[in-house]
Amino acid sequence: MRQGTRVIRAGLPKSSQGAPFLPGPTFAGTYHSAGDPAGSPFTYGRFHNPTWTQYERALSELEGGPVVVFASGMAAVAAIFGVVLRPGDVVVLASDSYYTTRVLAGGYFTQMGVHVKMAPTAGNAQRQHLKGAKLLWLESPSNPGLEVCDITELVALAHDADALAVVDNTTATVLGQQPLSLGADFSVASDTKALTGHADLILGHVAARDQVWAEQIRTWRTQSGAVPGPMEVWLAHRSLATLDLRLERQCQNALAIAQFLATRREVQEVRYPGLPEDLAYAIAARQMQRFGPVVSFVLTDRGHAEKFLAACQLVYEATSFGGIYTMAERRARWGGDAIPEGFIRLSVGCEDGEDLIADISQALDVVAIR
Ligand code: PLP
Repeated sequence: MRQGTRVIRAGLPKSSQGAPFLPGPTFAGTYHSAGDPAGSPFTYGRFHNPTWTQYERALSELEGGPVVVFASGMAAVAAIFGVVLRPGDVVVLASDSYYTTRVLAGGYFTQMGVHVKMAPTAGNAQRQHLKGAKLLWLESPSNPGLEVCDITELVALAHDADALAVVDNTTATVLGQQPLSLGADFSVASDTKALTGHADLILGHVAARDQVWAEQIRTWRTQSGAVPGPMEVWLAHRSLATLDLRLERQCQNALAIAQFLATRREVQEVRYPGLPEDLAYAIAARQMQRFGPVVSFVLTDRGHAEKFLAACQLVYEATSFGGIYTMAERRARWGGDAIPEGFIRLSVGCEDGEDLIADISQALDVVAIR
């Protein structure tokens, strides 16, 4: 089966007369479980839930390895740090990776004796720090800078140095890029974003190449209690079925918008890994099947960026990305990323592309008026 078919059928039980295609969420804090707990498939709600199992099965069909679902993307990130890193270990992070990932590593984990080294995603600069490292943390394309690194090459170098390699695959999603098949030991994602795509839940997951690591990640979830609600997981599974369709429209819109932005004199720099003239295009085209829903561009300064966002009528001003609703934000309002004050992260949705370009165009016209 091709991905477009697999994603619709992923994780569904075998056909059974009178049963629904996707069984509904199981809401249970506890289960009937008399006697030896080993004899009961389900015992307590923090340990397991059939709705999680169903969703994890779906994602593992797509990721190519066992999956553990978490209450958020950050819970999934923290699980890998927590399971892999010990005092004295070195983690090599992308200096332009998601801000909270860097804060978590540089805060709690540094206080516990982990050493954090950082280098940019662009130019595969992390390769210079691999000697003696325990973990290489890649994020490609990075959020929000949309830089891309050569995953296959960096993972191979990490393995030569006896380090494990992780890819944060949030921006691309598993239909855009499969880190495990590029050699990574873990693929981690915020399912809050394009994977589920409706801006209505917070969720994350870890996929592992190795069953032993997956079990340790699962144990971390049970013991730390970073468990998701069954309703969110069921909604995520339902939303997964349209991922192929959503991404097709989003990526088509994103490319058209990036091409349009490149023609506008108000816009200083446009980044989209799917734009043939983008610096990241050559590597992205080798390792990605789709280039994702996020475009970035730079306006002259904070004032111009705020004016642009206020003038948009269709594009929502909001944080997060990957959903069916097109949204944008002046990313520097949060701090923590090395980006200009006029940097806009545009998350392209599933609306009609011509309407989106018309809205962006009129908002840029407003910016141009002195
Ligand atoms: N990784 C990346 C690349 C992200 O962009 C985010 C959130 O924006 C996360 C991880 C964390 O995900 P969550 O907000 O679901 O905890």
